[in-house]
Amino acid sequence: MILSLSFERLVQALSRFPGIGKKTAQRLAWHLVSQNRDFALELAETIRTTVELYTTCSSCRMLCESDPCPLCGSDERNDRQLCIVESSADIYILENMNEYRGRYFVLGHLLSPLEGIGPQEIHSPELLARISQNQPEELILALKPSAEGEATIHYLYELLKGKSFSITRLSTGIPFGGDLEFSSMLTLANAFKRRYSV
Ligand SMILES: [Zn+2]
Repeated sequence: MILSLSFERLVQALSRFPGIGKKTAQRLAWHLVSQNRDFALELAETIRTTVELYTTCSSCRMLCESDPCPLCGSDERNDRQLCIVESSADIYILENMNEYRGRYFVLGHLLSPLEGIGPQEIHSPELLARISQNQPEELILALKPSAEGEATIHYLYELLKGKSFSITRLSTGIPFGGDLEFSSMLTLANAFKRRYSV
């Protein structure tokens, strides 16, 4: 074998990134070990410090450097709206939209029984606790339009219907199968504005 075990491990690690195949991972690994060693070591250090600093907000489950996160800690956000998203990255996208001033909750996953992702894995108990703590008037399901997204919306609706708040979802401005982040800001802002009752 020409390639060392450690190089193979690096390639394996890099290919775990979404959208990175083995060929790209190999290219990146060669780049790291051959061309730019200082950059590689600095990158490793930056990854370590950032990952170590990050924690999960115990109220909304967003990944951030403090608990509570800046959004849960702020008294300039309103408790009337609670926006449910799949990942912390989705919060950054929605915040960039500059439209929404309510609170958030991060599910962490979308329901996918075949992959073993059920109600516990999407943190339903924590969501119920968050709802009884915040007493929102509107629950916004800002989940991507995919089979898993639809299954999650259906499950949450069945779990929460009949409560004292309305449940809305984003309009179909986002193409089915697309990620929130793949939509343009304008599309997302429109989908958010034109949300409708589930
Ligand atoms: Zn938070």
